[in-house]
Amino acid sequence: MSADLAVTGGTVVGSRGRRSAHVYVDDGKVVDISPEVRPARRTFDVTGLFVLPGMVDSHVHLMDPGPTEREDFPTGTRAAAARGVTTIVEHTHANPVRSVADLTAKVEHLARRSNVDFGLAAHTWPDRIGDLASLWEAGVTFFKIFTCTTHGVPGLDRDALHEALSAIAGFGGTCLIHCEDEAMTAAAERRLRDAGRTDGFVIPEWRSREAEETAVVVVADLVATTGVRATIAHVSSPAVADIIERARARGADLAAEACPQYFALREDEVIEWEALRKFTPPARARSDADEQAMWDLVRRGVLTHFSTDHAPSTREQKLAGDIWEAPFGLPGLDTTTPFLLNAASHSLLTLEDVVVMYSEAPARRYGLYPRKGRLGPGSDADMIIVDETRRWTVADDDIISKAAWSPYAGREFAGGVTATLLRGEVIAVDGIPRDERSGRFLPGPGRRRQREKEEP
Ligand SMILES: [Zn+2]
Repeated sequence: MSADLAVTGGTVVGSRGRRSAHVYVDDGKVVDISPEVRPARRTFDVTGLFVLPGMVDSHVHLMDPGPTEREDFPTGTRAAAARGVTTIVEHTHANPVRSVADLTAKVEHLARRSNVDFGLAAHTWPDRIGDLASLWEAGVTFFKIFTCTTHGVPGLDRDALHEALSAIAGFGGTCLIHCEDEAMTAAAERRLRDAGRTDGFVIPEWRSREAEETAVVVVADLVATTGVRATIAHVSSPAVADIIERARARGADLAAEACPQYFALREDEVIEWEALRKFTPPARARSDADEQAMWDLVRRGVLTHFSTDHAPSTREQKLAGDIWEAPFGLPGLDTTTPFLLNAASHSLLTLEDVVVMYSEAPARRYGLYPRKGRLGPGSDADMIIVDETRRWTVADDDIISKAAWSPYAGREFAGGVTATLLRGEVIAVDGIPRDERSGRFLPGPGRRRQREKEEP
């Protein structure tokens, strides 16, 4: 029998190794990976190149519906497709999903607006913890929780946090927690504003290391005692990772999210770049040794997966007011796969590690595996073709996100994505996305379980 598609001549890279093999696809799914040549209706020759599963980005903000002047689903997912991300999990603070009706409306709104497959996360509001179970059963991927009021989302104090984590543990859900201490950031803000400070360095003083570490200590403790499956968002430094490691030693099921900005941007850049380096927690690295320490945490498995925390604004939006008024966040979907491939080309990690950190591990964490995060029989035929000899000097003009700039402009990334396939269809070639809008909503594991209950 002949397959729909054969991706031939490449080296297939999985989380545990690589081999020369052809990938056979039928009906959007991988049916076989084999060195044997078989008939296929279409052939995609990738001789000399690597074939990896599509990347899975579990922390993405596309502002849609919401402040779409910053980003929207069509544009953000074009950036994702162009640079090898085939699945995202999205949530937008300005238009949060807090009820089943919100989720239903958002899924309807996003029909034919996405170039990649997507899950949706919900926000945890302190006075709406009772709604979490129904949201999980309706198919959200995870619950976002803030410990400090940020981007208009109210922070949860210790009591509300305990209540939310207990509830989520009770129905087997999972959450992503943004950790900064409310009282410490609020006091620092008052102090800095009273002093009339508007220079870029107010960001690391306002969003201090101590405020982040204090919140992580509290959260890690409650994760251990409630038994919830949780992830600490955007771990900014080895000190934060150390707190997570100690909580794991006490049995906490605590993942640790890594983002490129804590490996490649420096704390003092905010002095020169001001709002263009305003994100929180801010960059902490001060030296090459600090950057190396972050890579050590990846190699030791302390940091469990990468994501972008893609939260773009245009240059004009960033620089319209003073540093206090500027929106937080960086664009990232255009650059995260190239950043990781570049790290592999410099032996900071292997291509197998890239598969683990930006595909398999997030897919497993968020219930998308083995449909996503894996290239093997039965999984979706989401794959990226990688050419190790490619070089890309990042330029603002290349950025597809509505941000239209990148903090990595001017840097050369070695190794690039030459094609991206979603369920066996080519959705981007040589960094140019095709506008198929064929991305589908992926209901979370809570909804799948609910269906099994209904269909005995
Ligand atoms: Zn975020």
